[in-house]
Amino acid sequence: MHTDNIIHKSEAITDLFELINSDRFPHALLLKGAVGRGKLAIARSLAQYLVCTDRKDGDSCGKCSHCHKSLKNIHPDIHFSFPINGAKATCNDFMNDFRAFIAQNHYAIGSDWITEISEGKKAGNMTAAECNRISHIVHLKPYEADKKVILIWLPEYLGKEGNRLLKMIEEPPEETYFIFITDLPDLILGTILSRCQIVNISPIPVALIAKHVEENFNLDAETAAVVANLSDGNINEAIGMSNQVENKFLPTWIALFKSTYRGHTADISKSVSDINEFSKEEMKTFFKYCTHFLRQCMLLRHLAEDQIQLRKNEMDIATKMTAVIDDAAIHEISVMLDQASYHLERNANMKSALLSTAIKMNHILRKDALVA
Ligand SMILES: [Zn+2]
Repeated sequence: MHTDNIIHKSEAITDLFELINSDRFPHALLLKGAVGRGKLAIARSLAQYLVCTDRKDGDSCGKCSHCHKSLKNIHPDIHFSFPINGAKATCNDFMNDFRAFIAQNHYAIGSDWITEISEGKKAGNMTAAECNRISHIVHLKPYEADKKVILIWLPEYLGKEGNRLLKMIEEPPEETYFIFITDLPDLILGTILSRCQIVNISPIPVALIAKHVEENFNLDAETAAVVANLSDGNINEAIGMSNQVENKFLPTWIALFKSTYRGHTADISKSVSDINEFSKEEMKTFFKYCTHFLRQCMLLRHLAEDQIQLRKNEMDIATKMTAVIDDAAIHEISVMLDQASYHLERNANMKSALLSTAIKMNHILRKDALVA
């Protein structure tokens, strides 16, 4: 059903579905809001609802041929446009990959897509050729539905080419609907913005993110709450973390802590190499996870266990760590992990940054161990 993939059905979103019911849906809509609020999923649900022939109770039927094709992202009257790679390319060249990408994760984000297509080179543009393709689509008659929907994901990549779309947006043929989905409205031409109805998509409340990852990722309620809190309302990040928490982050964190505490060079070096194997996003989340873990260790020193956001197996580890680390050391290590995260954002050489972090951790922990 169309609304299942919308985690937070805010009033603004419900209103958009109402506009479709009453035939007053804008011909050019722009959904804006920070990364990870599920905007693309909302746009896809709106597109499905627009073409469904058997809407019920504010929901598309999920059964008609239009719904079937929408759900597979192959409806001939729902078109996708998005950033691509290559000066003369159009989205047709990337369509199969794009469909697989959004089928894999309803809440996929732009930077993941750009990474997927970049092949190590600079990527992410919306070409003149792509604008011509959109123009061609706009002037075709719908194939199967009585309307056409054109989803333009991340129009901030259009740059000045956006001028090519102005006339189409201003005077679209009958029953043609543009839905723009943007993370960065400031980068879009004012002339495009002024022709769109703009709807701000609000952050997904933490409790709803927790519920979503608990139900979909086989996490217990406690872990789901931790992941949701760490995600800052970013559903994509919460999903990434849910996949990683159990398998990777806890063992890697324990290895880093143990090796730096004991000070065995070979172990420290192995631990650093393991962390360096993480993707950039994973590493960013890993640092957050470690900082969260340390914060809980600090709380554990002062509060009752039931107030700590750690799972049973994490709690056992935290109790051991807390025995050899004081508040000052926790603070110092947290600051260093934040610095490592800062280096990561700036694409620094992470192997040497990690090594330097590990060596500093070793100094802090050894000093602390002597005091203990
Ligand atoms: Zn339907």
